[in-house]
Amino acid sequence: MFDLRDLYQQVIVDHNRSPRNFGRLAGANREAEGYNPLCGDRLHIYLNVDEAGIIRDVSFEGEGCAISMASASLMTEAIKGKPLADFPPLFEAFQHMVTADLAEAPDEAHLGKLAVLAGVREFPSRIKCATLCWHTLKSAVKGDHEVAKTE
Ligand code: ZN
Repeated sequence: MFDLRDLYQQVIVDHNRSPRNFGRLAGANREAEGYNPLCGDRLHIYLNVDEAGIIRDVSFEGEGCAISMASASLMTEAIKGKPLADFPPLFEAFQHMVTADLAEAPDEAHLGKLAVLAGVREFPSRIKCATLCWHTLKSAVKGDHEVAKTE
């Protein structure tokens, strides 16, 4: 029988093994660092935002657990080419998905492939691994120079 959980697992394993948009971004005009002390995940996110406020390019570097790497990889895919204005509602939807009641289905229409990370809500200690990249991107968007922390 087709098992959705297996598919989700496969997507996460795939993004961890071959992360998309990984590496330093030449021409980045915004960047930020993030750290999740609970797990030891570290990320550096690079952005290139044009004058119209469109995220032309995004990449990340870092090391951490499979969830943190897969989440960053999936996030960069989700926001590349999108206007900055799309970021806050997407972050909110993602945050809601990973902390929602187990019975609540993820909003796949809004979240797309990011919905594969819905399973982390069953493992509260991994939620911060999944949201680290989002906090870091938020710092990069704001132009903060401080290290974004999940605590
Ligand atoms: Zn982690």
